[in-house]
Amino acid sequence: MPPSYPVIIIGGGHAGTEAALAASRLSPHTLLVTLRAGTVGELSCNPSIGGVGKGHMVREIDALGGGMGRFADEACCHFKTLNLGKGQAVRGPRGQMDRDLYKGAVQAHLSGVGGLDVLEGEVDDVVLDAGGRCKGVRLRGGLEIGAGAVVVTTGTFLGGVLMCGGERYAGGRHLRDSEEVEPPSNGLSETLREFGFELGRLKTGTPPRIDGRTIDYGKCKVQASEEDPKGFGHVRQFRGDPMPHQGSFVDCHQTRTTEETHKVCLDNEGSLPGGYEDGVGPRYCPSIHNKVKRFPDREGHNTFLEPEGLTTPIVYPNGLSGPYPPAVQLEMLRTMPGLENVEMIRPGYDVE
Ligand SMILES: Cc1cc2nc3c(=O)[nH]c(=O)nc-3n(C[C@H](O)[C@H](O)[C@H](O)COP(=O)(O)OP(=O)(O)OC[C@H]3O[C@@H](n4cnc5c(N)ncnc54)[C@H](O)[C@@H]3O)c2cc1C
Repeated sequence: MPPSYPVIIIGGGHAGTEAALAASRLSPHTLLVTLRAGTVGELSCNPSIGGVGKGHMVREIDALGGGMGRFADEACCHFKTLNLGKGQAVRGPRGQMDRDLYKGAVQAHLSGVGGLDVLEGEVDDVVLDAGGRCKGVRLRGGLEIGAGAVVVTTGTFLGGVLMCGGERYAGGRHLRDSEEVEPPSNGLSETLREFGFELGRLKTGTPPRIDGRTIDYGKCKVQASEEDPKGFGHVRQFRGDPMPHQGSFVDCHQTRTTEETHKVCLDNEGSLPGGYEDGVGPRYCPSIHNKVKRFPDREGHNTFLEPEGLTTPIVYPNGLSGPYPPAVQLEMLRTMPGLENVEMIRPGYDVE
């Protein structure tokens, strides 16, 4: 591994993956440094790609030579074009991913890119030369690696704070297959502040995960994948190839919150973490608490039950985020049609 690289990318999520692919086309050597090599390509929240607005972006990334559209097609287990009844400009191609296949596709692709090295480690600091230009990174433990340019794609990790069940604790995100919390990236956050960047804070959340084997799908509305799914990759579409798992796509289902759900939500407001109300949340993906407060006259809110893969029983109940204590999250779930006897696999949590 050379001691210095033309480009160093910090982070191995969507943004870091695309940055690494783009840099590798322009430069003979690129380094991607990430906290855990095993989580490169991990989908932090909803295992879906695209949707209204975002689907256009994935196709644009694909048209520009990026990887996301191809990885998404490889891992797709359900596909739907949202707003199909409306004009082309507002249609939203959206694919549900098999999490493991997606991560596997990203990692397999990156491992075949010539000149791209992946290093597991935490970048703690950016090193400047006498003129104040970036000349490399310093890892936790002190190792310095030179760089002509550094790209920061650290997602939710900069000074990350997680919230669940009345508690706030430091973290970038929960690992999905263990109780472990990935640590926040505080050193780098401090570096950026020292450089004079103004840092702001945003908040978002992920819902609990539930066991599909305990859902009564007979009480839910089937949301089948569309019959002629286009996917995202232009080259594959041009060749007329189907997506690899098209023959075994899975159904999503739709249920709704009830007045009882809203009562549980409001009765337990006091159990939300302190400072929860202060965070700026995503406008188009509000927590269940915000939806119930904002629309008190609504009798129910649609909730989509989305499988997290082709073979896993884990289901993502889209629309139910809110960092209530796990027992309250379960109580809330069980007030919804089809979920009366549902078992929760992991509670949801928020990240700031
Ligand atoms: C609970 C939760 C809910 C979310 N909800 C939504 C949502 O509703 N809508 C939405 O659009 N997005 C949501 N997200 C955000 C989601 O993370 C992003 O959309 C997407 O993953 C961003 O991709 P990224 O590549 O920027 O960062 P990430 O996918 O977060 O990747 C960051 C990478 O940086 C690495 N890293 C961090 N710090 C360092 C360091 N110092 N040194 C080395 N490597 C480092 C990490 O290991 C990781 O690989 C949510 C995330 C979480 C955790």
